Amino acid sequence: MNEKKIAIAIDGPAAAGKSTVAKIVAEKLSYIYIDTGAMYRALTLKALNENIELDNESAVFHLLLHTEIQLRQTNEGQIVLLDGTDVTKEIRFQDVTTKVSYVAKHASVRTEMVKRQQDLAINRGVVMDGRDIGTHVLPDAEVKIFLVASVEERAKRRYEENVKKGIASSMEVLRKEIEERDRIDSSREASPLIKARDAIEVDTTSLTITQVAELILQEVNISRLNNNI
Ligand code: C5P
Repeated sequence: MNEKKIAIAIDGPAAAGKSTVAKIVAEKLSYIYIDTGAMYRALTLKALNENIELDNESAVFHLLLHTEIQLRQTNEGQIVLLDGTDVTKEIRFQDVTTKVSYVAKHASVRTEMVKRQQDLAINRGVVMDGRDIGTHVLPDAEVKIFLVASVEERAKRRYEENVKKGIASSMEVLRKEIEERDRIDSSREASPLIKARDAIEVDTTSLTITQVAELILQEVNISRLNNNI
């Protein structure tokens, strides 16, 4: 069937399972998955490597203008290229994770990132995850989901993920880092983390990944029926 391609926005706080679910939904629909957090992380990594003062908005913005960030789909998943170098692993390091929200709060940085993200979604057929996708990047997305889960559950999931990857971590440290990131992301002036008025809120605390993905796919079908597409 030659269905019209739509855009799906998935937002929510840190470690709410957005990327895991977004990848599944994208695969089921043969859509492109776009991890916008990876773009902010890549810029943060470069700023740290180049000793740029993260609070200096114009320095960070200037850096972004001279930075190429590519999200490439491969058989092994999405890889992130920073000025042509694969930084998929490095952008998940603790230092980047604890600092990224300071980079992402600058209005000029966000405007440029949003422009780049909108270009990536120009042909629709995308599942995009982040903090401001439903509110700023794709305000006309046909399906908008806002995923939430208790902070304990999110820290637990991150901890278990780390155990699987063989990364040492502490649940308490993870909980604090998640809370701090949410606090900065929600309280910043420029496009803070907020549920779009027309987004569907899904509390994933007691749901499995498969259940959440199914729920989103149901919403896609409902949207198709409602919009006759
Ligand atoms: O999604 P992830 O946790 O990798 O995002 C890392 C950080 O990037 C967030 O904590 C937030 O500060 C920033 N971000 C953002 N807007 C987005 C995606 C991520 O501000 N659309």
